[in-house]
Amino acid sequence: MEEKEALDFLIIGAGPVGLYAAMKLQKKNKNFLIVEKNKKIGGQPSFLYPSKIVSNIPGQKEIAAHGIFKIFKPAAFKKKILTNTHVSKMEHEGKIIKIKLSSDRVVYAKNVLICSGLGSHTTNEIGIPGDKKRVIYTVTNTHIFKDKIVVILGGGYSAVDWAVQISKIAKSVSLVYRGTKLKVPKQEEEKLSSSSSKVFMNWTAQEIVDNDGIIIKNNEIKSEETLPFDYIIVQYGCVIQKVSYSFNKELKLNWNKVVVDKKQKSNLANIYACGDCCTYEGKFNTIKAGMEEVDKVI
Ligand SMILES: Cc1cc2nc3c(=O)[nH]c(=O)nc-3n(C[C@H](O)[C@H](O)[C@H](O)COP(=O)(O)OP(=O)(O)OC[C@H]3O[C@@H](n4cnc5c(N)ncnc54)[C@H](O)[C@@H]3O)c2cc1C
Repeated sequence: MEEKEALDFLIIGAGPVGLYAAMKLQKKNKNFLIVEKNKKIGGQPSFLYPSKIVSNIPGQKEIAAHGIFKIFKPAAFKKKILTNTHVSKMEHEGKIIKIKLSSDRVVYAKNVLICSGLGSHTTNEIGIPGDKKRVIYTVTNTHIFKDKIVVILGGGYSAVDWAVQISKIAKSVSLVYRGTKLKVPKQEEEKLSSSSSKVFMNWTAQEIVDNDGIIIKNNEIKSEETLPFDYIIVQYGCVIQKVSYSFNKELKLNWNKVVVDKKQKSNLANIYACGDCCTYEGKFNTIKAGMEEVDKVI
């Protein structure tokens, strides 16, 4: 099926950034469509950290992550969201972009906004011996940690974030990270320092032992310690099933991210990228950063 009337925008990805862009286009009465590869919309907050309280969405008070996508009022443009769909081919025909969808539908657009985030995720596992029955990868309910002893493994955004949040309700939180520098912005590090979490930097998890203990080893002096736990939360990141940009081989990528200029333009005319899928110097992967990027385009 081919539709000759060109959309103002085709948006790829219905995570927070794509939905924010759609909300703006809806308000401006523009003609657009969003294609979303998943069955459900919402992106990382809905799937990876639904019960986390997020406090840095512009114009919003604290909000549980699973509700973030509702801020963008998708009900108003429900009919313009095509789930279970991705782009198979995209090529310029003069100033217009011809897009073939996985459903075989062909649409034309004056602009394309890529908001495909990091792609789909498979969680990296703990990878040490021992009983894993109280090892958690995806936190969906923080109440279970109330007055419990929690060990968090990892040193990225999610590990630090959970340490800060869970330390408010848990009996104790220990954060164990094998590196020497946490992979988070300074302000997140500061939040961690002011929380009650105990941080084991440059330590590696070795084994889960009977009586609910986890052995950790200092990478420098090689000494070992056993930390008791009720729960272990593993935040070793994900194996990312890369977003595929095979729909247009000329799109300039760096580590599978779309290289954009200061106006979010890719190297191809009228094709933009915002959110976690794009890269430029000093890029942070946050919803706020993605929203600010969309503001430059729409
Ligand atoms: C544990 C954790 C905690 C975080 N906490 C915060 C926080 O407190 N505050 C904050 O601002 N940020 C936080 N972040 C980061 C934030 O979630 C991301 O920056 C944000 O989700 C990026 O939004 P996005 O729309 O660019 O990408 P995503 O959320 O990844 O959404 C991309 C969407 O595109 C879809 N897609 C992918 N490929 C295709 C394709 N080919 N065709 C169609 N659709 C496709 C995906 O299915 C997905 O729905 C956190 C991240 C993690 C992992």
